[in-house]
Amino acid sequence: MTARTFRVVALPGDGIGPEVVDVARQVVDAVAPGADLGIEWDERVVGGASIDAHGTALTDEVLGACRAADAVLLGAVGGPRWDTTDPDAPRPEQGLLGLRAGLELFANLRPVRPHPALADASPLRPERIEGTDLLVVRELTGGIYFGASGRDGDRAYDTCVYTEAEIDRVAERAFQAAAGRRGRVTSIDKANVLESSRLWRERVMVVAERHPGVHLDHMLVDNAAMQLIARPADFDVIVTENMFGDILSDEAAQIAGSIGLLPSASLGAGTAGLYEPVHGSAPDIAGRGWANPLATCLSAAMMLRYSLGAAGAAHRVEAAVGRVIADGPRTRDLGGEAGTADVRDALLGALA
Ligand code: NAD
Repeated sequence: MTARTFRVVALPGDGIGPEVVDVARQVVDAVAPGADLGIEWDERVVGGASIDAHGTALTDEVLGACRAADAVLLGAVGGPRWDTTDPDAPRPEQGLLGLRAGLELFANLRPVRPHPALADASPLRPERIEGTDLLVVRELTGGIYFGASGRDGDRAYDTCVYTEAEIDRVAERAFQAAAGRRGRVTSIDKANVLESSRLWRERVMVVAERHPGVHLDHMLVDNAAMQLIARPADFDVIVTENMFGDILSDEAAQIAGSIGLLPSASLGAGTAGLYEPVHGSAPDIAGRGWANPLATCLSAAMMLRYSLGAAGAAHRVEAAVGRVIADGPRTRDLGGEAGTADVRDALLGALA
């Protein structure tokens, strides 16, 4: 059988980005042959590294390469070196925003599955998080962050606008994801107050009709904020608009306890996507060999699943990560003393 070959752009970025992306690439390369996948890596600069090289956080050439690729694996961008109060100076995060807009990535997926061996790392009691395995699907390119905003005398305003098509496409992603999981979608809105939320609820119900095997319920966002920490294990897939998702996905992230373990995917209409850890560039530990690469490896697993059609390989990576979390070695953020290279060797050993 001929291997299916995929082109993946690697954007290590800044700080610990290159350290964690390097491990994730080796992990992907380790599982690719067994899944009959060929991976052509194309490494490019983004963020601060791109500002240093080209004076802008994202060049047209890099965006073009990402558009043409099957997937993009990103480390992190930013650091004190590029912090500035000059509104005209380029900023590293413009690279991320440019990628999201340029690739039309409208759905952000963040799974939260606390590992039993790390139950003590969560601010919630172990019995409360036991069994938690949820996925937040956040609308990423619409809503109040993108509506008309401004000042008018002593008033300031931000406008939340959603079209039916914008709601339908992200809801469709959520239902598809739920169909491959426990088959439950919780749609979160503020339909008792907001007209945009009433349209949201209406359209989610229309999309639900196309997925009779998936159970849908609705929850108001204020209640959801409470339920998420009161009974996180009851959620499967959460789908919500941009600002609610921004807040709830960070709340959900806390359940897992460690930022070094949280992956994410940003998807558009096709199979291509952008995959990155939730954490930032951790300038405080960059270059020391201490970075935890597991969130990036789990992001790479999402890439295998969603963009490269290799669910089996994704599962192998997730199992290897689970084994390393359970048996060690662990990096300092997880209470251990191991370095990035020790974790890499353990992962590659678990996959061998
Ligand atoms: P951060 O996530 O980079 O770091 C927060 C804390 O967690 C630090 O103490 C760091 O050492 C630790 N940490 C984070 N990831 C880790 C890992 N993989 N292994 C071990 N420890 C880890 O957040 P911050 O300090 O607020 O931001 C630092 C820089 O990153 C800023 O320039 C910020 O703008 C940028 N940032 C980028 C992204 C992104 O690229 N998506 C996201 C958040 C922050």
